[in-house]
Amino acid sequence: MIAPEIATRAIEIRRDIHRFPELGFEEERTAAIVERELSELGIEHKRVAKTGVVGVIRGGLSGKVAGLRADMDALPLTERSGEPFASEVAGKMHACGHDAHTAMLLGAARVLQASSLRLEGSVVLLFQPAEEGPGGALPMIEAGALDDPKVDAVAMLHVDYRLPTGTIGFTPGICNAAADEFYITVQGRGGHGSAPHTALDAIPCSAAMVLAMQNIAARETDPFKSVVVSIGTIEGGYRNNIIADQVKMSGTFRSQDPEIRETLEGRARRILEGIAAAYQTKVELRVIYGYPPVYNDPMLAATFKAYLAEGHGQLALASPPATMGGEDFAYFAQRAPGVLIRLGIRNEAHGSVHPGHSSQFRIDENAIAYGIQTLVAFARGVGSGSVIGGEANPTSWAGFVTSHNL
Ligand SMILES: [Zn+2]
Ligand SMILES: [Zn+2]
Repeated sequence: MIAPEIATRAIEIRRDIHRFPELGFEEERTAAIVERELSELGIEHKRVAKTGVVGVIRGGLSGKVAGLRADMDALPLTERSGEPFASEVAGKMHACGHDAHTAMLLGAARVLQASSLRLEGSVVLLFQPAEEGPGGALPMIEAGALDDPKVDAVAMLHVDYRLPTGTIGFTPGICNAAADEFYITVQGRGGHGSAPHTALDAIPCSAAMVLAMQNIAARETDPFKSVVVSIGTIEGGYRNNIIADQVKMSGTFRSQDPEIRETLEGRARRILEGIAAAYQTKVELRVIYGYPPVYNDPMLAATFKAYLAEGHGQLALASPPATMGGEDFAYFAQRAPGVLIRLGIRNEAHGSVHPGHSSQFRIDENAIAYGIQTLVAFARGVGSGSVIGGEANPTSWAGFVTSHNL
């Protein structure tokens, strides 16, 4: 277990960051805290991707290079957690736990730097902006964050309200989903509600489209593959006796297989245009592609679990099911074998029971020591050659333009 003062210091930093949340690519204050701490520890660091920070700890002994990634951004949400250190910025909140991710990585840096003479290999600390959008992972990679020294395996922690404090979770293989947005506009012709034959009604046409879109998941996709097609908004019309000339809809596609993802836009377009033709309306479809899913290298996860079980940590291990959420760590795990580790924070006594992105989200800070311990163990295990990666995400997600996470 790590020394209590390391966790205490990390909790202080977490609360400081929590009180002043910053949105994607605006993390100036947070990045300055990271730089201040790294400088104080004597760890070399540089700015990348506007508000990203990359630090390097060079071990005294030869070995492999571990990458540890923490995201730093907050969400546009007003906090209602009731914590004494709640956000002091109206409309902004650390509701996804990235404040804790940043503080835990600084805690791990402190432990690793203090023992760097005996450390095998090197550790690259990746403090990333804009995970919640528009995405800071790709710009960091493009700025060479994984190249000097070249990272052999990379890990991240994400707090998870489903798992109790003291537990960490691994989901081997694809552990979440590609998250893509779509926008539909149906154009008809307005008229008097008493004379529908003189108009082209956009509302029944849209109703048929909503129902038919369900067939993409229900009738056109292998039942053993995961696809979600959800329409989240529908708006149109003026009042009870006016025929609506236009309806706008928006929704999300979620998928875990690049071949299926490639088909979704075309399938939606075929269905929408077929129905528009039948109803004599016009339809427009716009798709905005988000992050690919995270691929957890099964060998990396398995060797890390074995390393922890050998006494390098006192953590309970869980295998939570995959989710259909999104996370731009996916891009790191395309370049080097990677693992997304879920860190349990559930504690009813502390009210740490709300999901991420809730205004009531709370973190059981007892989890912070376990998170630091996990990051330190990963870095030491990779450096010594005990924790070994198999391959980075072997599936191809080329051709998709990144926009933002959902
Ligand atoms: Zn989030
Ligand atoms: Zn998050």
